[in-house]
Amino acid sequence: MKLTVVGSGDAFGSGGRLQTCFHVANSERSFLVDCGATALIGMERAGLDPAGVDAIFISHLHGDHFSGLVWWMLHAQHVVKREKPLLVVGPRGIEARYRTAAEALFPGSTEKSLRFDLKFEEHSTDRPYEWQDLVCSAVEVSHPSGAPAHGLRFDLPGRSFSFSGDTEWVDGLIGLADGVDLHINECFAFDTIPNFHTAWSVLKEKLPRLNAKRILLTHMGRDMLANTDAVDDPRVLVSEDGMGLEF
Ligand SMILES: [Zn+2]
Ligand SMILES: [Zn+2]
Repeated sequence: MKLTVVGSGDAFGSGGRLQTCFHVANSERSFLVDCGATALIGMERAGLDPAGVDAIFISHLHGDHFSGLVWWMLHAQHVVKREKPLLVVGPRGIEARYRTAAEALFPGSTEKSLRFDLKFEEHSTDRPYEWQDLVCSAVEVSHPSGAPAHGLRFDLPGRSFSFSGDTEWVDGLIGLADGVDLHINECFAFDTIPNFHTAWSVLKEKLPRLNAKRILLTHMGRDMLANTDAVDDPRVLVSEDGMGLEF
């Protein structure tokens, strides 16, 4: 399985980085985890084909994590001329929020009939969401976004990874990341603790409790990007746009 970091930045373009998006592929399928406004730009830069994506999972309903769906659907319809189905799985209210954003940015765009079957589903902390042989589990995190904000875990045969989404530290991340090949954690700040985001000074204290083979830091703000040299744990990697990881 290969994970490509399409966008590793925060919502504000810090360091010239693109907004959150990960592309995951194995021989059977490919899917995205989060789809920030810059997702298509990042895919193009990384040489990844949007037409090959079967599903898009969204952690929470902030624009730097889901608004790329607006451009994605227009691209699928008019550029790719997509015919294969697309599954979008997000928190409660994902379809309504997508339609509101799409109508604000491209009025009338959601009224046209699509060439492809677009299906919205919701993940929940009550039960895992199953898609083919992939199981997506969600935990509640601390990050107000007008809808439930979730950390997500993906279990596939023989492989697993997890993603904190945006959040301050919550103990639910310990179970989420237990035994995974890769845990991706947001690390917006360095040593000033922001509301509803994680600082490295907090995360490094929690590392012994995170039972993941590797940990990838993402969603770094300006302050954290200026201090990545302080990350000296051999399990912890600092993401870059376009970076690929095999696991
Ligand atoms: Zn957010
Ligand atoms: Zn964010």
